[in-house]
Amino acid sequence: MAYQHVKLPKSGSRITIENDQLKVPDDPVLGFIEGDGIGVDITPACMKVWNAAVEKAYGGKRRVHWAELFLGEKAAGIYDGDYFPNETMDAIRDLTVAIKGPLTTPVGEGFRSLNVSLRQTLELYACVRPVKYYKGVPSPMKKPEALDVVIFRENTEDVYSGIEFEAGTPENRKLADFLRNEMGASFFEDAALGVKPISAKGSKLAAEEFGDITITEDELWEKHNGKRPEGKIVIKDRIADIIFQLLLLRPEEFDVLATMNLNGDYLSDAAAAQVGGMGIAPGANMADHVAVFEATHGTAPKYAGQDKVNPSSLMFSGVMMFDYIGWPEVGRLIEQAFEKVVADGIVTYDFARQVEGATEVPTSGFADALVEAIKAS
Ligand code: NAP
Repeated sequence: MAYQHVKLPKSGSRITIENDQLKVPDDPVLGFIEGDGIGVDITPACMKVWNAAVEKAYGGKRRVHWAELFLGEKAAGIYDGDYFPNETMDAIRDLTVAIKGPLTTPVGEGFRSLNVSLRQTLELYACVRPVKYYKGVPSPMKKPEALDVVIFRENTEDVYSGIEFEAGTPENRKLADFLRNEMGASFFEDAALGVKPISAKGSKLAAEEFGDITITEDELWEKHNGKRPEGKIVIKDRIADIIFQLLLLRPEEFDVLATMNLNGDYLSDAAAAQVGGMGIAPGANMADHVAVFEATHGTAPKYAGQDKVNPSSLMFSGVMMFDYIGWPEVGRLIEQAFEKVVADGIVTYDFARQVEGATEVPTSGFADALVEAIKAS
């Protein structure tokens, strides 16, 4: 495919899909989007760590060829004010796998969140956020290691669909009249109105599709005396508010959480806080054959360009990405190095303010310490 501004690396091969499976060459081209704000700090730092781990794991037999793609403020500078260029979407589809830093949502009339637009344009219907504890990370919990879950959040529907009608507009009045007069709804005068679409496709539960390996809690008690049969997954249907309490008080009861879009957004940030906060929480937006891995925090504009913040959220999103492409050795090296460096008390400002006696290092210094630990492992 010919691009206007995207420059694909001269060497490297594309990831392809064969029989519904990713086929990953030893020299894949992966897309990266630097991101706005602190993106300039965390993205280069992470690339150093990822490249060092790939080199250590495979001794040159495997290597990533990075292709820079543009979204957000950097894109606007290149594509004549366009924050969301079509060719970036084409390139992500073409490369199949990409990773991105955070993006600013431009404030003003007519702008949708770039992240929401990305998820909807590429139909990245699952937001996947693993939340687990790494040794040495400061946490407010007594037993943070008890939490080890993967949150699957529906990613394209719900109140983020953006079907909204401002109070006082003709569209709002038309919808209000329809809801009152034809559907019998009642609500305050001048209420702004939003539509919350939830499809069966986006929200169907596992019992229907994977009935052979799942059981309900009723079945667990009625047929199995409360003891999970070997090889079966127990589906626990929980109301959104109580799951917040359960994750705090009895986190070991859950391995996987499947949620609607908005609930998953709240829940994944709250769960991340239990194991060290947004600075280290990874995530991915996935469709069947396209995946965009991302830092889950925002652009933290007050720290942009200061070489200060924690790069671990993006770095661990990279760990997910290497697991996804079938290079798990890379992620394990990075996780071990992370625990070693944090145990040595070398941390960025966010951890330093919680760990007595720690040595605060900049983003780049933290990445350098990780690279050293990877090389020495
Ligand atoms: P934010 O950028 O996530 O920052 C909020 C606070 O979180 C920061 O002030 C900082 O806390 C902490 N933090 C964030 N990243 C960190 C890191 N790497 N290391 C350590 N601490 C970190 O949220 P925001 O200020 O509400 O949003 C700023 C912009 O980001 C907005 O334009 C928003 O739309 C956008 N955003 C983008 C994404 C995305 O691209 N996925 C997600 C959320 C928000 P302290 O102040 O305590 O140091």
